[in-house]
Amino acid sequence: MVLNCRHVWEYISGYLDNTLDEQTRADVERHLEHCEICSAILDSTRNILILTADDRVFELPVGYSERLHARLREAMLKSPPPEPQSP
Ligand SMILES: [Zn+2]
Repeated sequence: MVLNCRHVWEYISGYLDNTLDEQTRADVERHLEHCEICSAILDSTRNILILTADDRVFELPVGYSERLHARLREAMLKSPPPEPQSP
């Protein structure tokens, strides 16, 4: 199965939590190899998990994922993948 970005976003927490089945995990990894947007999301999500790892709390700040997804939608509309933004 070929995943699109939306699928990958659904799977990212499971991916980081290691709860995906092998096939899904492989599909996500394949997508991440070529998708800068999802790689960036994976990184930032992982950072949040690290920040909250002490208490094993996996809740994101309220509104975080909505804002993130809105930004992503914007970024995807401007595809090809966004250039690094200069200040
Ligand atoms: Zn993607």
